[in-house]
Amino acid sequence: MRATPLDRRHAFYRGRARALSGEPSMNATVSVIGLGRMGSALARAFLKAGIPTHVWNRSPEKASALAGRGAVLAPSEAAAAAAADIVAVCVSTYADSDRLLRSPEVAAALRGKLIVQLSSGSPNQAREQAQWAAGNGTAYLDGAIMATPDFIGEPGGTVLYSGPRALFEANLPVFAALGGNPQFVGEDVGHASALDLSLLGQMWGALFGQFQAAAICQAEGIALDLFEEHRQAFLPVVEGAVVDLITRIRDRRFAADAQTLASLDVHYGAFGLLLQLCGERGLHDLVPRAQDNLFRKAIDAGHRQDDFAAIAQFMR
Ligand code: NAP
Repeated sequence: MRATPLDRRHAFYRGRARALSGEPSMNATVSVIGLGRMGSALARAFLKAGIPTHVWNRSPEKASALAGRGAVLAPSEAAAAAAADIVAVCVSTYADSDRLLRSPEVAAALRGKLIVQLSSGSPNQAREQAQWAAGNGTAYLDGAIMATPDFIGEPGGTVLYSGPRALFEANLPVFAALGGNPQFVGEDVGHASALDLSLLGQMWGALFGQFQAAAICQAEGIALDLFEEHRQAFLPVVEGAVVDLITRIRDRRFAADAQTLASLDVHYGAFGLLLQLCGERGLHDLVPRAQDNLFRKAIDAGHRQDDFAAIAQFMR
């Protein structure tokens, strides 16, 4: 049987995970602060990789659940910070993290350690945290987890890291415990969060698109299973258009040319039918109205016959 692109991708990650975990640097000790769905998955993965792991959580029962797997329960967040070389933080927000880490006791325990911030935050929050850490004598890497907890520790688990490259490289075998695809994305410490938000932004575009699609099918009496079948068949067309769009935005090729797949005018003609259908069937049109606004900005500025990519000029 021939390997599919997905099989090849999994094989790539398995090979990469083996290569990374072959490095002998498991002398490191890790603390995980924050043991919600994601933090618990991180702690389990460190333990599975044989890395001594201390854990602390505001609600102690989540820490106790990890004791059976070999985690050392820290009696306080300061004790967790003091116990390990690498302090991985995974709480709801950076503000929650700040409240935990910036008390005098915890800040003192963090001196000379490495914080790996794995809570979700904005690029500027990451930069502010790095600045605080530097002032505290603490090394800092920012991480963005591009996965759900079930991917953590698995070959395809991806975490993006930004900050000093040397810190990332020195600790790569530890990060490999979290999944086969640890990626360094830049010395600007805000870039892991920025890339996270750009990837999530396009994900939400697609997910909200599914609400629109499902509403149309349901209003028109089309089975969602039939929609799904055709969505799968349409995927390569959409993916091709996305790749084309990214390339054109990168190269600023906004004018229509021989490679143009569809002009802005052609897109807008079909898009008008979507708005019309929303009106006829009483479907929510908030999302298409916002998209209509962007179409009109480009059209009013004289780009109607340009490539669809011309809209990119109106995003800032
Ligand atoms: P969760 O299950 O809701 O857990 C939240 C964690 O934050 C818990 O450990 C909670 O402690 C702790 N916490 C919240 N406020 C706190 C405070 N003021 N002081 C101390 N601890 C506090 O969330 P999660 O899914 O683990 O997500 C954690 C982070 O990972 C978030 O930033 C999320 O965006 C990110 N992330 C999650 C996923 C995912 O698929 N779940 C994917 C990528 C990134 P208690 O247990 O005491 O409430």
